[in-house]
Amino acid sequence: MQLKFLGTAAAEGWPAIFCQCEACKTARQRGGRNIRTRSQSIVDRRLLIDMPADTYMHVLQNNLDFSKVEHVLVTHSHPDHLYPEEFLLRRTDFVHLMDSVPKLYIYGNQAVTEQLKKAMAACDAPDSTLAGVLEPVEVALFTPFRAGEYTVTALACDHMAGLETAHIYLIEKDGKTLLYAHDTGELLEATWEYLAGRHLDAVSFDCTFVAKDCKRGHMGLPNAVFMKERMLEQGIADRKTCFAVNHFSHNGGMCYEEFAPLAEKHGFTVSYDGLEIEF
Ligand SMILES: [Zn+2]
Ligand SMILES: [Zn+2]
Ligand SMILES: [Zn+2]
Repeated sequence: MQLKFLGTAAAEGWPAIFCQCEACKTARQRGGRNIRTRSQSIVDRRLLIDMPADTYMHVLQNNLDFSKVEHVLVTHSHPDHLYPEEFLLRRTDFVHLMDSVPKLYIYGNQAVTEQLKKAMAACDAPDSTLAGVLEPVEVALFTPFRAGEYTVTALACDHMAGLETAHIYLIEKDGKTLLYAHDTGELLEATWEYLAGRHLDAVSFDCTFVAKDCKRGHMGLPNAVFMKERMLEQGIADRKTCFAVNHFSHNGGMCYEEFAPLAEKHGFTVSYDGLEIEF
């Protein structure tokens, strides 16, 4: 399985659009891996995770063929993960030279599917152009479902508490398992129980606060290290498991060149826009 990180920032992007903090100034000066767009990833170039407003740029930068994408996992409704209007461009009068435009299945929680349905209802395109091309699917926690060749399970996470049930996703194919854990604080006990007895080949942990400690809502490196150690102790992961940290905010303050060696000491690969990991 291949996981490609397309956008690796939190909601504001890094440098943040209106910000003049040192971390944003440094990112603007250095460029390269310090330029982080909004959160999105793709598995094997065909199973998409999240749909932010930066999606179109990701398609161009990475030479992606979205006509091959038939399944999209949406983690939650924060705008760095869901920009519903982008999906409407799949209307049949904007998509040509495909014999028939296959349905695009979009999986998420109730808030995600409701936002999608609202955007579809408000769209000024003729009904016939959207009929049968978008299928919002509400998925329940801890209940595996098929998304094309993949078996996917939404797991509980610590994010948007009291507002909506955000998801992290367990993605399995051909004996390989990826845990995509964005956005979340330290994993909840119900999720640890579900993971017990499984083996993870790759894990991408939330690291919004970079090297700073944050237990709830998001994480920083100390919390990702703590989660990793627990996975190793419980045998959910082993020394072959690829661990990455991803989803960074300028509020964490530390740019790529300073942070990457620190994270590597703890066995983590630091994501950047365009990074691919194979496992
Ligand atoms: Zn986010
Ligand atoms: Zn800033
Ligand atoms: Zn969020």
